[in-house]
Amino acid sequence: MAGFITVIKYVAMCSLSGNLTFSLPGAIARMTAMPITLTCRACKDGKLHEIVSRREFFPNKKMVSVELRHVQCDACGAVDTLSAQHADNLRRLAARKAEYGEQLMGEEYIALRKRYGLTQRQASKIFGKGLIAFSRYENEDV
Ligand SMILES: [Zn+2]
Repeated sequence: MAGFITVIKYVAMCSLSGNLTFSLPGAIARMTAMPITLTCRACKDGKLHEIVSRREFFPNKKMVSVELRHVQCDACGAVDTLSAQHADNLRRLAARKAEYGEQLMGEEYIALRKRYGLTQRQASKIFGKGLIAFSRYENEDV
């Protein structure tokens, strides 16, 4: 599991710089249930707190809101996403597919285009849509 390894790396890094505020291995299991007590990587001073943002999508003109979790430093304000949060955010984004029916999600447009090694410009020529339109499909900015 790549995410798990990243967490270990992060913990090891904190440990080396003397910022470790918890010890392995229980910390990983507790991470989602308990307040996050990691020290900020940017300023090496503040503590990271979990924050929640929402991203709204409008498939078939229906609003679908997805909760995304991150951490924010209480000293410098830097926002980061822990690998466990990232995996969870991706899972929650993928779950919205149920609301899309025939419509493709933005990341599906991106995946299709990249599978054929196309730039947005090339893809918009092939599909007969403008560059801006194609970018909007990918960002679900309609
Ligand atoms: Zn900070």
